[in-house]
Amino acid sequence: MGRRKGMYRRRATTFKTGNRFGFTACTADETDANCTGDMPSPSDTGVATMSSCKPAYKRLSKEEYERVVNSPVKGPEIFSSQSQQTMLLRPTKHHVGQLNNMAPASVAESTGNRVVNLQVTVRAYHSAMMAHREASNGCAGLLISVSDMEEFVGLGSKVVFGCTLCNYRSELLPLYKVLNQSNKPGRNPSELNIALQLGLHQTSISSTAARRLLSSISLPSPAVSTLQKSANQFGPVMKEINENDMAEKRGIIKETLQLRGLSRDSPIFAEYDRQYNNPLRNSRSKTPFAPASQCRDVIVENVTMDKFVIGYHHSNKLCLMGEMKRRRGHKVQCPGHKGCSANLRQDANIGDEQNGGKICASKLLAGKNPVKVKFLTTDADGKACKGF
Ligand SMILES: [Zn+2]
Ligand SMILES: [Zn+2]
Repeated sequence: MGRRKGMYRRRATTFKTGNRFGFTACTADETDANCTGDMPSPSDTGVATMSSCKPAYKRLSKEEYERVVNSPVKGPEIFSSQSQQTMLLRPTKHHVGQLNNMAPASVAESTGNRVVNLQVTVRAYHSAMMAHREASNGCAGLLISVSDMEEFVGLGSKVVFGCTLCNYRSELLPLYKVLNQSNKPGRNPSELNIALQLGLHQTSISSTAARRLLSSISLPSPAVSTLQKSANQFGPVMKEINENDMAEKRGIIKETLQLRGLSRDSPIFAEYDRQYNNPLRNSRSKTPFAPASQCRDVIVENVTMDKFVIGYHHSNKLCLMGEMKRRRGHKVQCPGHKGCSANLRQDANIGDEQNGGKICASKLLAGKNPVKVKFLTTDADGKACKGF
């Protein structure tokens, strides 16, 4: 099926309301008397026969639209003001469920690995296949994931299935499950991204390490800012779950004490240790203080063989927001300003285990199922027991 003669001579322009041509499109069945509808010969350079065609209204895909309206040369001469034959309507994102004029060779298949939900993927492919069968009347082409139209949402991806023979395009289909959060504004988060955060919170690797790991197995790696955003959503929930879990474990200890014939509120045996985010050997001969910006204190019970974690405290000197504000000339102190992530001053001694022990002891007494500590096992050089 060849293109009509008129299609090659029309000058494209953007759609304007109240145009002088009216809304009658020049179609193959309805042509002007002067429009022959034939392909022009290479030697035929006249435009007189084409100028009287009625305008056609075309809705192109976003890519085609941008190709037509954007030109490296700027100026009014890009579009003809006299023969406005083709009126471009607002572009569609992509053609859905119908045949278009793109050549089949332009279909590039997505490569690499993806993390997908099997149920969701099977249903998405099936729906695309059924729609393709209906739209293309028995086409035997293979439906592939169109590379240009794939979208990534963190670790998950949304794909458009396209036919290799007939240019069918499905709608954009997510291949992951979403968590319905009707009480929160914005897009519902992907289950995958939340699950990734769960894994990251339970291991010592950072977002950067996670990205390297994902890239090495050819999986789409979310941007660091995306990972940080999900971590900010995930962090408070994780903190609450862990605090409830530690309170539950303290309850088990109290029951154990009772079963051993002791009072539920008897002081217990416990162990304590502190971990810094930087190894202390890094600061050898550089500073007499701990070179860390973050540290965590962990208290483990010594009543049962399970050695449950019953107390935790995290000290942090880092605050990105405070740092940015100070660079812009604002006088802010960390901790203390709105949205501050630090809970320790920059000039504070992070190696003060006595203070850490004091905070941990007060947390053990303040939470649900409070316990007192009778004997504390610590490092020989630590002073945490003085804080209890
Ligand atoms: Zn097809
Ligand atoms: Zn701060």
